[in-house]
Amino acid sequence: MGVPAIIALFLRPGCAAPLAPATPLATSAQRIPATLIPGDGIGPEVTDATLEVLAAVGAPFQWETHKAGMAGVATSGDPLPRETLESIRRTRLALKGPLTTPVGGGFRSSNVRLREAFQLYANLRPARTLIPGGRFEDIDLVLVRENLEGLYVGFEHYIPVGDDPRAVAMGSGVNTRAGARRIAQFAFAYAVKQKRRKVTIVHKANVLKALTGLFLEAALDVARDFAGRVAVDERIVDACAMQLVMNPWQFDVILTTNLFGDILSDEIAGLVGGLGMAPAANIGVDAAIFEAVHGSAPDIAGKGVANPLALMLSAAMMLDHVEQEEAARRVRSAIDAVLREDNIRTTDLGGAASTADFTRAIVTRLRG
Ligand code: NAD
Repeated sequence: MGVPAIIALFLRPGCAAPLAPATPLATSAQRIPATLIPGDGIGPEVTDATLEVLAAVGAPFQWETHKAGMAGVATSGDPLPRETLESIRRTRLALKGPLTTPVGGGFRSSNVRLREAFQLYANLRPARTLIPGGRFEDIDLVLVRENLEGLYVGFEHYIPVGDDPRAVAMGSGVNTRAGARRIAQFAFAYAVKQKRRKVTIVHKANVLKALTGLFLEAALDVARDFAGRVAVDERIVDACAMQLVMNPWQFDVILTTNLFGDILSDEIAGLVGGLGMAPAANIGVDAAIFEAVHGSAPDIAGKGVANPLALMLSAAMMLDHVEQEEAARRVRSAIDAVLREDNIRTTDLGGAASTADFTRAIVTRLRG
């Protein structure tokens, strides 16, 4: 039997592509072209703050600034203008502020379009305790989420029964062996490179035996190639969700499917104080895009009070990605020092600092 066309989409050659750095390394004199999308709402404010920090640390990025989201609609009638896509196609590297997506009608999420356009198959969300005294101390976890497949593909339809046109709702997920191997290779290679001790594969193979059973089987197979370099174990997703709030320290790197990753990553962000401090990377065959997890926060846009931490931490991940690890380390330790020693925090973290005050404190630490 042939492969159905919709499934063939998931089996294109890129699925098995080996992991390769998306961007050539910079020597000290070289600049690295990168696309900058300030985004909507608080996006431009937190982007400006992040650029100040990147300048202070001597980051080698040469920015091409482009619009997307409502800002794209306002200038060119498209939430993902052609010039923005072409810039990312050229640079293969982007730092992106949050984009507003109208609820209900309107346009499709530009974030989802970007994931598809650049085959951003790996969503990487680290979570680390930044402010002591919260409910959980010393959290240091990374979630690696498959970003293109699973139940998230949204293959859904209704079946009418009698006079009810929507009497039955059906949805299908798609996991491919190639896609599962690719994300597992990413997770294990990441764990080895970052000197992590363990990868936990999270699934629901006891019930979704084919869909997540295949994911587990492929991930365990890849794990064998990393034997002796990083430990591996596995958990059923519901048990993992509970254990994350009972004893989160038992986890190190969590590798999971798209929908489970979506849910668990927010739970993990909650362990360290919420989405406001959560950075993310979307890494793919054709590009890597770094962004804060939070949205455009229209309620505080333009007031100068937005917390720029999440985008700054995303920028640190971007520095790691282009192998500027020392600059990334300096950004993180300046943030730690400002939060823990200088006690300067934005209002969402219980402080009184404006975006500008907070940014100035980090820049002062970097230059000090
Ligand atoms: P949101 O994350 O923008 O805001 C939720 C709450 O958190 C608000 O009260 C907001 O003021 C606060 N908040 C968020 N970021 C903050 C920051 N950096 N500093 C201080 N407070 C902060 O979520 P929402 O209101 O549900 O979404 C607003 C818009 O953003 C929607 O159009 C949504 O589609 C979009 N969105 C975009 C992305 C993205 O581009 N990656 C992600 C999530 C939501």
